[in-house]
Amino acid sequence: MAKKGRVFSGARPTGRQHLGNYLGAIKNYVALQDDYECVYCIVDLHALTTVDTTENLRQNTYEMALDWLAAGIRPEETIMFVQSQVPEVTELHTILSMVTPLGKLTDLPTFKEKVRENPDNINYGLVGYPVLMTADIVLYKSDVVPVGVDQAPHLEFARETVRSFNYRFNTKALIEPQMKNTEIPKVLGIDGVQKMGKSLNNHIELASSPDDTRQRVMQMVTDPQRMKRTDPGNPDVCNVFTMHKIFSSAEEVEMVNAECRRAGIGCVDCKKRFAANLNNSLAPFRAKRDEIGANPDAVWDVLHDGAKRARMIAQKTMDDVREAVQLPR
Ligand code: SF4
Repeated sequence: MAKKGRVFSGARPTGRQHLGNYLGAIKNYVALQDDYECVYCIVDLHALTTVDTTENLRQNTYEMALDWLAAGIRPEETIMFVQSQVPEVTELHTILSMVTPLGKLTDLPTFKEKVRENPDNINYGLVGYPVLMTADIVLYKSDVVPVGVDQAPHLEFARETVRSFNYRFNTKALIEPQMKNTEIPKVLGIDGVQKMGKSLNNHIELASSPDDTRQRVMQMVTDPQRMKRTDPGNPDVCNVFTMHKIFSSAEEVEMVNAECRRAGIGCVDCKKRFAANLNNSLAPFRAKRDEIGANPDAVWDVLHDGAKRARMIAQKTMDDVREAVQLPR
């Protein structure tokens, strides 16, 4: 079946993925493969802007790639690779930075947020982050970029940068990417308040053992008003119920919804049910992860092969860019 165009998306190497990563990105990555030619990049250069140490960088890249593959990324059709293995991206980043006003970068809300988060490490790379991101997108001649509401300003920035470049050099060398608005669910951590994330240690890893998963689920915060077993609960404010709606059958969701409200089910039992359903849902992923992970070289081979394919597109783009800018070929 003819594909609708090329999709690009990148994510920082954060190691083993958690439920928030899966529901917020990976699930969508897998689904997009049916309709689009997909280019998925592990953006290790971006990670350098904020990491304290690179000690685990390579391992985190590997673990993330392994999770993507186990979740259903199909490397025979999808290009999956590591950003730094296509050095053309840094060249394009440099060239694009010449058409990017500095004030525009320092005004971006995400830059201000990073400055707040890393007051002791406001490096040049952090300022140029959106330019590198633009280079990532346009280097692979991407038509479409899936973004949630939060990232929309970044994509708009990329589109403006492409227009500036094409105008300044009177060319059509770069393609203005289209935004594919994607509903990215906010997955709360086991604290039931904050977004799930490793830094907050409120996450549930996809690759955890069933026992560890159960233990994490049993720590989940429920309806804060429900103090004892005999109190009726309110599933509408309970993160366990939100997760039931994703991982449990319609009948079980209906039962929990009704029984919680009349104290017919306790939170311990409710969590045990959710943990069992979650473990069942993740069983095929975990089995595939074990199988693929038995040969780590094969995972690296996928990434190296992806980089080769990505680089072929990148070199063509850079030929066009160099021609437009009148740099020697
Ligand atoms: Fe949440 Fe379930 Fe407890 Fe109700 S019974 S408050 S849905 S954990």
